Amino acid sequence: MLSKIYAALAASALLLAGLFAVSIGTASTASADECYTWTRTLSSGTSGADVSQLQIRVAGWAGYGVNMGIDGSYGPQTVAAVKGFQSAYGLSADGVAGPATYSKIYSIQDPDCSPAHFAWSEVDGGCGQGGYSGGKVSATTVKENLKRAMWRAEALRHRLGDKPLAVTSGFRSISCNSSVGGASSSQHMYGTAIDLTGVGGTPSLCSIAQQARSAGFGGIFGPGYPGHSDHTHVDIRAGQVWSASQCGI
Ligand SMILES: [Zn+2]
Repeated sequence: MLSKIYAALAASALLLAGLFAVSIGTASTASADECYTWTRTLSSGTSGADVSQLQIRVAGWAGYGVNMGIDGSYGPQTVAAVKGFQSAYGLSADGVAGPATYSKIYSIQDPDCSPAHFAWSEVDGGCGQGGYSGGKVSATTVKENLKRAMWRAEALRHRLGDKPLAVTSGFRSISCNSSVGGASSSQHMYGTAIDLTGVGGTPSLCSIAQQARSAGFGGIFGPGYPGHSDHTHVDIRAGQVWSASQCGI
């Protein structure tokens, strides 16, 4: 009995400590590392979960047609992606991820791990359902996929001059996908896909599709592909399937 009380007290203390830490974190300047904090410098040849976390955030910078694997191994694609990220954000491009690179990532990362210009509420379940359930994979996998897709979309947005991009569709449950006439194998049911438009026609759907080729997207469908005259679809499937004939793709 006594041990149970002590356990409960200890749990309460931990909970309070946790709440305190969160409130401190929120009060300080843009401490976006509430999501994830790197504790070592990473470079070619290193591996681990921290490399994967880095890869997720720089995968949109590996180069034209490079659909980078998130494998926790810091190889040539990761070096290229880190260099691309560094030069895009005005850092010295040495391909090594250290404090300056992390601090830039923290500055464009929200506490919920979404990138600065895309929010979970924009990409969660369509058809007014919200959430991440009812797709082709578990809700956890859907969320992980959406996170990866959002970070590539953030790179795409930066490539397009940091003009706002609107999300017209993100994750869709199987029932939602059917009701909106999505393809039976739609990537939207995996959380890997995002449909985008500019705001007031800028950037154009073709500009989005063209730049997406350099932002790590395996799937790109835009104007000229059936059903894609009012948005450009991008997804992070493995491999490369691009079609937007009116945009020269
Ligand atoms: Zn789509």
